[in-house]
Amino acid sequence: MNFFKNEPFTDFSLSHNRAALQQALDAFEEGTKTRPSVAKILISGVARDSKEQHPREDPSCPSRILGTVHYATLDHVNEALTLAVEAQPSWAATSWGERASILRRAATLMRTRRHQLNAIIISEVGKPWKEADGDVAEAIDFCDYYAEQAERLGKNQVTSNIPGEDNYFYYYPRGVAAVIAPWNFPLAIAVGMTVAALVCGNAVALKPAEQSSLIAAAFAQILLEAGVPPKVFSLLPGAGEVVGAALVADPRVALICFTGSRAVGLQILSSATKSIPDQRTIKKVIAELGGKNAIIVDEDADEDEAIRGILSSAFGFAGQKCSACSRLIVVGSHYDRFITRLSEAADDLILGLASDSSSVVGPVVDIEAFERIKALLKSPPGTVTTKSQRTIPDGYFIPPTIIKDPPLDSSHWREEIFGPVLSTRNVRTFEEALSLAMNSPYALTGGVYSRNPDHLHLAKRQFRVGNLYLNRGITGALVGRQPFGGGKMSGVGSKAGGPDYLLQFVEPHCITENTMRRGFVPET
Ligand code: NAD
Repeated sequence: MNFFKNEPFTDFSLSHNRAALQQALDAFEEGTKTRPSVAKILISGVARDSKEQHPREDPSCPSRILGTVHYATLDHVNEALTLAVEAQPSWAATSWGERASILRRAATLMRTRRHQLNAIIISEVGKPWKEADGDVAEAIDFCDYYAEQAERLGKNQVTSNIPGEDNYFYYYPRGVAAVIAPWNFPLAIAVGMTVAALVCGNAVALKPAEQSSLIAAAFAQILLEAGVPPKVFSLLPGAGEVVGAALVADPRVALICFTGSRAVGLQILSSATKSIPDQRTIKKVIAELGGKNAIIVDEDADEDEAIRGILSSAFGFAGQKCSACSRLIVVGSHYDRFITRLSEAADDLILGLASDSSSVVGPVVDIEAFERIKALLKSPPGTVTTKSQRTIPDGYFIPPTIIKDPPLDSSHWREEIFGPVLSTRNVRTFEEALSLAMNSPYALTGGVYSRNPDHLHLAKRQFRVGNLYLNRGITGALVGRQPFGGGKMSGVGSKAGGPDYLLQFVEPHCITENTMRRGFVPET
């Protein structure tokens, strides 16, 4: 029996680790000049070209083209699903142990290619070094953790046997799965959803996000090398409204595993419930969506610790995390002083190219995100307390921005921005703070900084979010240790990286056998 342990993060304070990643970045950069990366459609193990091709630019430096993404057509979707349906029975018949071994091999391959994968993530979505490395570590964790969980799930259980009757409880695969991934954890989330489906015996069609198809192609290669049969897995890069929507609507798809925005998630949930005559399965939808997460700081909090945690939660990866802090609620009269200190600290965060090891805040992912967030900041509904003037490299950079006292009904306070923007409010009591924090349709993460045991106790009982963190930052959940996922409008699904996650990818069956045969009565 293996016992899961989280993959350690790379220690970049060691010069050989810095040198290894720098070398991988240089090699990737060199490659973009001589042989640019390509994300092709992968069906039955064969990479396919498409007439529709899109360049992928580096968000830190948009004039630098990293590679080309081939967009799948509806014919590709159809072909991939036809093959997946054909391959489904034999994949379902492989043992749980065999499938778990493939995941462990995939984890090993990712370990050996750690810095190449880091380099792609840093370049393709603009994730700074440490965060990119955390993304790869999480992807490795998902493989190892779900392999272990699958071995547990694959054991037939006896319910209760009485003389003359045997009862067994089994888990069967659901069938062909469509996995639709976001770009912000471009490796970890795509890997987690895909390997969870695969290890439970479901064939998979993976639709990566448009912005992160190069890293998805590297992952697809790893899966094939690890031993996933070619017909069991296909990679379908392409437009969400075309490829994603076709997968969701197809009656051959039994399971949809989606992580992304609330708007798209709700659309998928609605489309998946429509069935056509002769459809064989009611589609199961797992949908992990956005958040508008709040941190509460009370008058007893350790301010230094709170400032550190808020900065990393609000501005890490330029705020582009579903778990990011975007609302700060400060209790009591230290509000003005606290926001001044926080704003000065935010102004000191190093904004720069994701490929530069000293950058703490990188760019936002693409021109659409850049223009959308810039438009939101043109007429902020409160006082901006961070510096507006600082040197900003060319590229999609938005400096960390704190908006003090936006109205409670403003979109800045209510809606997910998915950028480095934090809104703050002051309240008189801790109870008021809790009620304001909870006054959101989302319920993904939340946090409290306090040294008052009564407040911590109250928060544990009343601050109902998927992942509540006390006296620490609210991002960076670890597989196995902090199973991750939200409630309310933040999603329907059982927490990723937790013991119940795989149950969503299987169907439970109970088999009862009457063993009283030919007049034989067993001894009682
Ligand atoms: P998105 O919803 O725009 O896209 C996600 C995926 O859906 C992409 O692959 C996209 O191509 C596809 N898609 C788009 N339209 C589609 C359609 N009509 N039918 C089917 N598929 C379609 O989200 P994003 O910008 O990639 O990611 C950011 C969002 O994801 C944020 O809201 C963030 O909070 C959320 N997110 C949630 C979690 C979580 O665990 N709860 C984790 C990461 C990101």
